[in-house]
Amino acid sequence: MIIILKQKTDQHQLENLMGWLKEKGLEVHPTVGESRSILGLVGDTSKLDMDLIASLDIVENVKRVQEPYKNANRKFHPMDTVIKVGNTQIGGGNLTLMAGPCSVENEEQIVAVAQAVKASGATMLRGGAFKPRTSPYAFQGLGKEGLRLLSLAKKETGLPVVTEIMEASQLEYFDDVDVIQVGARNMQNFNLLKLLGSQKKPVMIKRGLANTYEEWLMSAEYVMSEGNENVILCERGIRTFETQTRNTLDLAAIPLLRNLTHLPIIADPSHATGKIALIPAMATAAVAAGTDGLLIEVHNDPTKALCDGPQSLRPEAFDKLARKLLALHEFLKTQED
Ligand code: PEP
Ligand code: MN
Repeated sequence: MIIILKQKTDQHQLENLMGWLKEKGLEVHPTVGESRSILGLVGDTSKLDMDLIASLDIVENVKRVQEPYKNANRKFHPMDTVIKVGNTQIGGGNLTLMAGPCSVENEEQIVAVAQAVKASGATMLRGGAFKPRTSPYAFQGLGKEGLRLLSLAKKETGLPVVTEIMEASQLEYFDDVDVIQVGARNMQNFNLLKLLGSQKKPVMIKRGLANTYEEWLMSAEYVMSEGNENVILCERGIRTFETQTRNTLDLAAIPLLRNLTHLPIIADPSHATGKIALIPAMATAAVAAGTDGLLIEVHNDPTKALCDGPQSLRPEAFDKLARKLLALHEFLKTQED
């Protein structure tokens, strides 16, 4: 349920109302906006008398929120969530480029790629240390050593780091990580989501291989309901019947989710297509669709990459693409009405 407050609210009456709602066992999330302020209520509101609340002096309107996601719902929080990571801001009209190799392989590789993508305009470094692989015989990532190398690359370049956590026991190694990624395969690992909700670092949740928008938003809700409101959604393609692309990039997710939620939405054309040749077009399309950022795999020698070489851009190709994406984003801003 949301309570829309009148423009000029008496502070004392507002505190009384909030206290009364909390006594009823509800969580109250106030959002103060420029034009209007609202109270978002989480919990069992079925016994609340809507007419009574609507009749209060300070209340403009009362609405039930039908959707099962409350904290993630734009009705609860009309303004975009903007997440500050290092010197960069994710959401709220910015275009954040997150780039780096699929997996951290060695010091030379991660530092060289970090320097290159930074010079091209990326504001975050990606790189997997714990890798979820389809085959148990494939490279599983460097683990803790990979995180150490990411810290080193962060120190060298100043780029904040986003990297994947696969299970709860790894969290103790994530102190120097800036954004914790939950991979597609873990999107509905509810215990992991709850754990990440109980800590402060931003969490980027990749869409599951065959999950709906609502299921994805409910995963965000798991994190947010534990108290961590810094959640980012990442569309990385879904499983369809098509075999020529690794997945199918669902671009409609971007404008559609923009209405449903206030959380930032990132697009990952690398895992969505699996093909170097398709990445520039799909990244450009994602910017046109209004994405808040892109996650793009970049490797200094894709032919020797230990993971996802066929979808990894060389630094020169990333440079060309990044400049185009940033220019397009600037142009689109001038066209906003
Ligand atoms: C990744 O980002 O390296 C990754 C494994 O992605 P996904 O979970 O989307 O497959
Ligand atoms: Mn990858």
